[in-house]
Amino acid sequence: MNNENSVAETGMFGEFGGSYLPEDLKKVLAVLAEEFEKYRDDPDFNEEFRYYLKEYVGRENPLTFAKNLTDKVGGAKIYLKREDLNHTGAHKINNVIGQILLAKRMGVKRVIAETGAGQHGVATATACAMFGMECIIYMGKVDIKRQALNVFRMELLGAEVVSVDKGQGRLKDAVDAALNDLVENFENTFYLLGSAVGPHPFPTMVKHFQSVISEESKRQIIDKEGKLPTAVVACVGGGSNAIGAFAHYIEETDVRLIGVEPAEAATMSEGVPAVIHGFRCLTLLDEHGEPQPTNSIAAGLDYPGVGPEHSHLKTIGRAEYVAVTGEESLEAFQELSRVEGIIPALESSHAIAHAINLAKTLAKDDVIIVNLSGRGDKDVDQVFQMLKE
Ligand SMILES: *Cc1c(COP(=O)(O)O)cnc(C)c1O
Repeated sequence: MNNENSVAETGMFGEFGGSYLPEDLKKVLAVLAEEFEKYRDDPDFNEEFRYYLKEYVGRENPLTFAKNLTDKVGGAKIYLKREDLNHTGAHKINNVIGQILLAKRMGVKRVIAETGAGQHGVATATACAMFGMECIIYMGKVDIKRQALNVFRMELLGAEVVSVDKGQGRLKDAVDAALNDLVENFENTFYLLGSAVGPHPFPTMVKHFQSVISEESKRQIIDKEGKLPTAVVACVGGGSNAIGAFAHYIEETDVRLIGVEPAEAATMSEGVPAVIHGFRCLTLLDEHGEPQPTNSIAAGLDYPGVGPEHSHLKTIGRAEYVAVTGEESLEAFQELSRVEGIIPALESSHAIAHAINLAKTLAKDDVIIVNLSGRGDKDVDQVFQMLKE
């Protein structure tokens, strides 16, 4: 496994991760890495983090036994870790609160972020409103048009949404614009990254703040079942909810860790090692060696790269990664709604779809934990349109 010291210093997970950036940006992120190391185990910092997770996010959230689904599938017991019940409806807020508190400790009052689908932008704008921080969200011109409601939400919350017209007007161009802003304004600006991707220290930092998911679920499953789960299943976009759901089980080698990606953006199954957005990971490249446009029905999973630690966990064989189609996840979206009265996010529906298939192959005393990364209210209109067709 990783030597923790070397990860803290270099951000390398085996051959993946690191920081492939111009010198000026590298310096800015080296300072961020130092500040993070200073506070990650600081009792006062952690007390403040726990306070907001409890009072603002609504943690701890339940680990719900999906009895109806379990009975219907007729195999392993299926439990749902309820990130969908968090304030703002998904796991993203855990990381946002952690990073904003770090910004606060660093004395920074201006927060920038980039967003594609808008979900990370909304989570960031939410926390900035509460902490009284200036909030600037970079978003590609094309994405702004597609996600008009999320743009309105961010503006309601007091954020400024900056349209990026360069390039294709998509997420990649928004990332470039945010990095440029950071280089120019590093003295008073914090770049708040939304997934377990990007250059060091982001993958390590995002995992740290999201690992509250498995810290809770481990305690909860031992409480309910008196043992560890057979498998933990989570969907993988950039990989933040999955790495948070896996974190406290990585050393428990009897627990299977399964990441589920969309077949339409199957980075782990079909990607090759390459550097994108300043870090090395498994990634989907086109014939020109550029990141390939992906096409998942779940906007939050539509990313051609994946977190470096997932790339590493796959390479060393500690975690498994499978692909599920949009059609299968649409089925699972409806199934969970019907039998449990829980409408899952389309992203999370990928994990549900695989858990259903997996449960059938396991025994009745096996236990599966599915990380229900978010609620599906945001997707109802899209599903309505898709089912009509
Ligand atoms: C953003 C998002 C994801 C994908 O991001 P990860 O970093 O891979 O977790 C998954 N589920 C939901 C509900 C999301 O909003």
